[in-house]
Amino acid sequence: MREESWGKVQSSLKKNLSKPSYETWIRPTQFSSFENGELTLIAPNSFSSAWLRNNYSQTIQETAEEIFGEPVTVNVKVKEASETSDASFTSSSSKSSSASPVKRSSDESSNLSKKSSPLLNLRYVFNRFVVGPNSRMAHAAAMAVAEAPGREFNPLFICGGVGLGKTHLMQAVGHYRMEIDPAAKVSYVSTETFTNDLILAIRQDRMQSFRDKYRAADLILVDDIQFLEGKEYTQEEFFHTFNALHDAGSQIVLASDRPPSQIPRLQERLMSRFSMGLIADIQAPDLETRMAILQKKAEQERVGLPRDLIHFIAGRFTSNIRELEGALTRAIAFASITGLPMTVESIAPMLDPNGQGVEVTPRQVLEKVSEVFQVTSDEMKSASRRRPVSQARQVGMYLMRQGTNLSLPRIGDAFGGKDHTTVMYAIEQVEKKLSSDPQMASQVQKIRDLLQIDSRSKL
Ligand code: ADP
Ligand code: MG
Repeated sequence: MREESWGKVQSSLKKNLSKPSYETWIRPTQFSSFENGELTLIAPNSFSSAWLRNNYSQTIQETAEEIFGEPVTVNVKVKEASETSDASFTSSSSKSSSASPVKRSSDESSNLSKKSSPLLNLRYVFNRFVVGPNSRMAHAAAMAVAEAPGREFNPLFICGGVGLGKTHLMQAVGHYRMEIDPAAKVSYVSTETFTNDLILAIRQDRMQSFRDKYRAADLILVDDIQFLEGKEYTQEEFFHTFNALHDAGSQIVLASDRPPSQIPRLQERLMSRFSMGLIADIQAPDLETRMAILQKKAEQERVGLPRDLIHFIAGRFTSNIRELEGALTRAIAFASITGLPMTVESIAPMLDPNGQGVEVTPRQVLEKVSEVFQVTSDEMKSASRRRPVSQARQVGMYLMRQGTNLSLPRIGDAFGGKDHTTVMYAIEQVEKKLSSDPQMASQVQKIRDLLQIDSRSKL
């Protein structure tokens, strides 16, 4: 009878949770018993059980109390206690990590990995990854696949914007795996390298060794998979590599700046392969998490930072951890060169000369371009080829490239879904005109000033 009640609890949770959360965590969880107010549930694996305990126990408790009509405590067990690595898994947040019985990655212990894989960055270990609400799920999933590769989440697909820690997290999986099993064959490859290798293999007629190389891994980490976009032949080969690895029980971890469904011109069958494990995203970190990241980094650099300075820097750099770190590094360098103290007063002007390093949003770019060129944002987003419109659009694309961290396809999106080749062309055009057309150059400079974009910024 209580078992039916669990069904009711599930139905109620289904209404209140997002579909992926429900499908991933609640639906597979079974009823075990209800005795003396204790509701015992069975999760399919230890990762899910830890996840349920940490993230859903209160929601489940409240919902169950409502339906059972009495106080309830929730207890989650794992299906069978037979699997060795399962038994010792505890998740996941940075707080619990020191108490975890599982052997942990640490900066020192990554010596091992130093020997076995020169391709992994030694700093990209779990210990140096600060977990916030923005990355909790991706982090937990990454730990889980390192501990029990090739099981629940295969592939693990990590997605999130630029500089949010995808590469760090996926390499942490590699380090940790090698720490648990020094014999594990871990390989990390960027999609670009994979593609280049493939082309070379074809050219030199070495397909067999190409295949042997990529299909031998126990754990393969493929970064920036969005670059498969439109590469027909590479996708073809990747599809077969993926299947061979997956069939052999190897763990596959993929990282991308967007989910599989949003990678343009990706073969349907690859999209479905990429989605068959777990898609975990990393969002931009909130202020508290950004402050924790700075704090940790300062500790690693052995620099004392006053809290208000941490707050100040974290308030300035909101959507990219690489830039956040960069700002801190510049601040430390500045203080040590000038001998000035690390305070907001002395550091703030350095972080902000003409807004260098301060982020510009795509919307601000559109607004200012619109102001100076007298063309509306909507016109720039339209397909209009009228000269004033296309000129403003091109300048907008150029400045968005210069002032933000958006990739070419994302810039295309900001202009109503233009192709990235259009964006590339626009940037080239503006670059050419800047030297030949003084009026254009002064308009561009004016917008730069308004946006406080440094003309030396990257392009
Ligand atoms: P992505 O691959 O998503 O573009 P990276 O993994 O290269 O981003 O991360 C950019 C930088 O920010 C790296 O130096 C990384 O160590 C750091 N970083 C990212 N996320 C975190 C985090 N949660 N905690 C600590 N450092 C982080
Ligand atoms: Mg990366």
